[in-house]
Amino acid sequence: MSANPSSQSAVRNYISGQFRADAGRAMEVISPLDGQAISEVPLSGRETLDEAVAAARRAFTSWSKATIKERVQVFFRFRNLLEKHKSELTELIRLENGKTYGEAEAEVLKGIELSEFACSLPQILSDEIQEVSKGVECRTTHAPLGIVASITPFNFPLMVPLWTIPNAISLGNCMILKPSELVPMSAQRIAEMLHEAGLPDGVFNIVNGDREMVEAICDHPDIDAVSFVGSTKVAKIVYRRATSNLKRCLALGGAKNHLIVLPDANPEISAANIAASMSGCAGQRCMAASAMVAVGNTEHIVQRICEESQKIVPGQNLGAVITGAAKERIERYITEAEAAGAKVLVDGRNAVVPGKEGGFYVGPTVIDHVTPDMAIAQEEVFGPVLVIIRTDDIDKAIEIENKSPYGNAASVFTENGGLANYVIERVSAGMTGVNVGVPVPREPFSFGGWNESRFGVGDITGKSSIAFWTKLKKITSKWDPKAWKDWAS
Ligand code: NAD
Repeated sequence: MSANPSSQSAVRNYISGQFRADAGRAMEVISPLDGQAISEVPLSGRETLDEAVAAARRAFTSWSKATIKERVQVFFRFRNLLEKHKSELTELIRLENGKTYGEAEAEVLKGIELSEFACSLPQILSDEIQEVSKGVECRTTHAPLGIVASITPFNFPLMVPLWTIPNAISLGNCMILKPSELVPMSAQRIAEMLHEAGLPDGVFNIVNGDREMVEAICDHPDIDAVSFVGSTKVAKIVYRRATSNLKRCLALGGAKNHLIVLPDANPEISAANIAASMSGCAGQRCMAASAMVAVGNTEHIVQRICEESQKIVPGQNLGAVITGAAKERIERYITEAEAAGAKVLVDGRNAVVPGKEGGFYVGPTVIDHVTPDMAIAQEEVFGPVLVIIRTDDIDKAIEIENKSPYGNAASVFTENGGLANYVIERVSAGMTGVNVGVPVPREPFSFGGWNESRFGVGDITGKSSIAFWTKLKKITSKWDPKAWKDWAS
């Protein structure tokens, strides 16, 4: 029997179908909307992880033997629960993460889409069979890996966990989720809904915690694979530590997404898309527009981007950033760029939302004449900030994008198909767009960047994730074609 976490003030660990308190270290969960404490999260350690892994291992014996058609039945029901509880989940995401209602609702809708993809896995997962020589047949099966961990960031408390949970579990694995300690509440509802959807106890578990728990996951001898989504700094730590312990690991990191804007781009479409991409989720998206490389005379487009940005108001159609420290960091980047000679066209510093003075808000910010050597041009700001780097040449624009160590997303804005192809072929990013501000590949296409935005092989969602969550078994069979005759006669 699982307790109902929504009736409790504190976040719990979820092990073997039970919500459990932990009397050890804990921290407050703060709502970025107004800076008020909304809950408390345990910062558990190795002992809790041992219990979760043991529960998962027990559950694995029967879960891994169920057919995939049986396993995905849970996600048909789970998908319907997401839809049934959409408005409540939207409010919860908004409360713990600080997004606008529309952004939080879009996150739930994306969670539904991810669950639907998992429901389609029996149709997608086609094994191969071939007679490789006379009387000899080879076939493949996808076997589950075993116990897998998913470590997630603060910026999508529901969606990023659902990048991994439906696919990994449908493919026969048992999972330990370690949500971000900044936004641990949506994960509690995921556990409740999976329970209600009929997932057997122990197949899905939650361990709450911080760095100590992540390190324990990377070191645990009975965890077979680790997926991670978060900053590049931590992605490198996790990838190195998990693989040095001989685990399979896929670690998605941060981003610095470049938008190359050519003079012939449609000003209205480009400006609307770029302003929305830069400011959506308060710029706290690994797919957010961060650096616009303006080629030639794009003055009219820059002007429109400023006009669009001025329509974006903190506390109305712009959410909060995650912490007071994040607000300070973002504003410091802006101030340092200004001091280094950049021109702040739209200034989001010192934003205050009446009635929510304790909240963490940064207004939309557009900074022109940024040079590629400035920190704000190179580093991930993770706030509603667009830097504009001017250049007179398309190849120089591509060179600027290529020099970034990241490689999550890149877009080009132009009306010219040939030039669009020219840029897309040359940018060094895993997810690219033409006249699209946030080029997220929708299901069934997979999500994943290049370079320092992803460590490991393959993408985290879609068909590409099947290889990560399974082991391929090859079966070669040879039968004596005459052997059955005597027996049958
Ligand atoms: P983060 O790296 O600080 O935290 C991610 C997870 O790692 C959390 O669960 C956290 O508890 C844990 N963690 C933090 N510091 C750690 C340490 N020193 N050692 C071990 N574990 C540690 O990331 P965040 O601030 O929560 O999220 C924002 C970042 O995530 C941004 O860089 C963003 O670009 C990135 N992100 C990337 C993608 C992608 O698909 N590439 C998607 C979403 C977010």
